[in-house]
Amino acid sequence: MNDGLQIPASLLPQDGRFGSGPSKIRTDQMAALDEGSTSLMGTSHRKPPVRRLVASIRDGLRSFLRVPDGYEIALGNGGASAFWDIACACLIDHRAAFGSYGSFSAKFAMEAENAPFLDSPVLFSSQPGTYRLPDLTDGVDAYCWAHNETSTGVSAPVSRIGGSARQGALILVDGTSAAGALPVDIAQTDAYYFSPQKAFGSDGGLWFAVLSPEAIERAYSIETSARQEAKDRWIPAFLSLTSALENSRKEQTLNTPAVATLILMENQIRWLNDHGGLDWATSRCEESARTLYDWAERSDYASPFVTDQDARSHSVVTIDLDPSVDAATVVSRLTDNGIVDTSGYRKLGRNQLRIGVFPSVDPKDVQALTRCVDYVVSRI
Ligand SMILES: *Cc1c(COP(=O)(O)O)cnc(C)c1O
Repeated sequence: MNDGLQIPASLLPQDGRFGSGPSKIRTDQMAALDEGSTSLMGTSHRKPPVRRLVASIRDGLRSFLRVPDGYEIALGNGGASAFWDIACACLIDHRAAFGSYGSFSAKFAMEAENAPFLDSPVLFSSQPGTYRLPDLTDGVDAYCWAHNETSTGVSAPVSRIGGSARQGALILVDGTSAAGALPVDIAQTDAYYFSPQKAFGSDGGLWFAVLSPEAIERAYSIETSARQEAKDRWIPAFLSLTSALENSRKEQTLNTPAVATLILMENQIRWLNDHGGLDWATSRCEESARTLYDWAERSDYASPFVTDQDARSHSVVTIDLDPSVDAATVVSRLTDNGIVDTSGYRKLGRNQLRIGVFPSVDPKDVQALTRCVDYVVSRI
C-alpha cells in the first residue's frame, strides 16, 4: 500500500479525517455510544429513553441555531435527499425557482423537474465555484438554494429574496454542510434542513428541518387538498411533512430511526452548546478555513478554487493544485499515512483537494495537514 513515502510522525495531525461528509466523529461521541450500549441501543424509539434523546436534540438545536418563536424542528429518516422529495410533495405548491451551482443544488432542482404534479422549475444557474441565487419570479411559490455547495466549496448568502414574502413564497435552504459551521439567521428561511453527517459529525440517515409557521401552514394546506379535494398529487406516507412534524412533536419519527445516529447527534449538539454555541463553532471553522486559504495563497503550487473571497466556504475548502502536481497522487500518499478523504468531488473533475473543516476538526490538525501536503508535494 505505502510506496515508502512516510510522513514524519511529528508533522502528522492527531486525527487524519478531513471528509466533507461523512466527516470526523469525535471519540467522545463514540464513548456516548458505548455508554448507551444497554440503556439506549436496542431499545424502543417510542419509549422515554430514546424520546428524551430526541427531545434533547430538538431543544439543543433550538438554542444552538437561535430558532425564532413559532418555528418548529422536525426530523425523519432518509437524509437531506429525502427532504428534497418531501419538499416537492408538501412544500412546493406549483412552481419553484432554484439557484443551481453544483451537484447538490442541481439535484433538488432535478427532483422538482421530475415531479409530475409540479410545473417545470425556473433555474438560475452559474459556473461551479460561484453561486447564483434565484431572482424574484412571477408565479413562483418557493425559492430554493444551498447555503453551502458541498461539491465545490462555495457558500451562498441566506436572506429572503426581496418581494418573495409579498408573493407568499417560501424560502427553502439546504443547510446540509453549513448548519453548525456557518452563521445563519433562521428567520430568513422557511425551511432550513440538513443531515447529521457533516458539521454535526454524526452518522448519516436522518434529516432535520427548521420550519417556519408559513412552511407548516403550506404543508397542511397542500396535504389536505391532495387528500380531500384536488387529488392532483400522491403524497406517500413516508414523504408527508405533517406526519413527520406530528411525530417530531412527540419526540419520535414516523418509522424506526438509527438510534446510534441520534446518540452521536445529541452528544455533538451538547458539545457545541457547551463550548459557546454557534458563534464558537463558526469561528472555529473560519480559523481552519483561513489556515487553508492563506496557505494556498502563499503556496507556489496551490490556490483557492473559489475566486470570490466572500463565497469561500468555511466548512468545505477546495484547493486547486498546479497541473504539474497530480492531486490524485497527493491524495493517495496522504491516505497511505492515515490522512483520508481529501480528494475533490469526483464529478467536478478538477485537479483539486477538498477538505472538510467542520467544528469537530481541530484547527491545529488543519495546520498539520498543510505541512503534510507540502511534505508530500516536495517528494513526488
Ligand atoms: C451531503 C449533502 C446532501 C445529501 O445528504 P444525504 O444525507 O446524503 O441525503 C444534500 N445537500 C448537501 C448540500 C450536502 O452536502
